Amino acid sequence: MKPVIGITPLADPERESYWMLPGYMTGIAGASGLPVMLPLTDDPEDLAQSVALCDGFLFAGGHDVSPALYGETPLAACGAPVPLRDRMETALLRAVLQADKPLLGVCRGLQLINAALGGSLYQDLPSQTGTAVEHHQSPPYNRPVHVVRLTPGCPLAELLGRETLAVNSYHHQGIKVLAPGLEAMAAAPDGLVEAFRIPGHAFAWAIQWHPECSYQTDPDAAALFRRFVAACAHQR
Ligand code: MN
Repeated sequence: MKPVIGITPLADPERESYWMLPGYMTGIAGASGLPVMLPLTDDPEDLAQSVALCDGFLFAGGHDVSPALYGETPLAACGAPVPLRDRMETALLRAVLQADKPLLGVCRGLQLINAALGGSLYQDLPSQTGTAVEHHQSPPYNRPVHVVRLTPGCPLAELLGRETLAVNSYHHQGIKVLAPGLEAMAAAPDGLVEAFRIPGHAFAWAIQWHPECSYQTDPDAAALFRRFVAACAHQR
């Protein structure tokens, strides 16, 4: 039996739909996991059942996190949030950590986890930081556009066996203040934290880049999915 990986749903309120990027599903499947999309709900009993059913959780990319989560009012450059998804993932995160099941945050997933645990975000990197790093690339999205420096000795550096990594980048928000207790695992040349882990948990990692777009051409992205799914299999 493969480990079952629950992926948080992408939501499109304008079209009244849920949807999923195939790369999350095929990336997990290619790493020998069984991916399932979770229902979009903040019902505590349904979330508890999802946590019991799945062996690991992928917090996917998507809409901007509501600045209300970190105590700010939205700037003009901040995208419209999806409040139900923010509530769902905040509650799901607490339940997953309580159960100590493996989790991987990707892009918005990294931002949501940081905000939910007491950190804060830049609502819009270009206007708030003036960074010269290309964080919001154009297609194709499997193309690396900036490097990150890996924290020496951290599990991500040990997994990949290197000190720097070339990554794709498709985000206009990012971590402003890292939440208490999180350990940075990668930083962009402008200092932006692009990966962290939550120490004390079997596997609780988050990354700002997009392995779901690059795992077919980037061995490091494929290795990341395999490491996550292996942690889920171990948990099972
Ligand atoms: Mn970036």
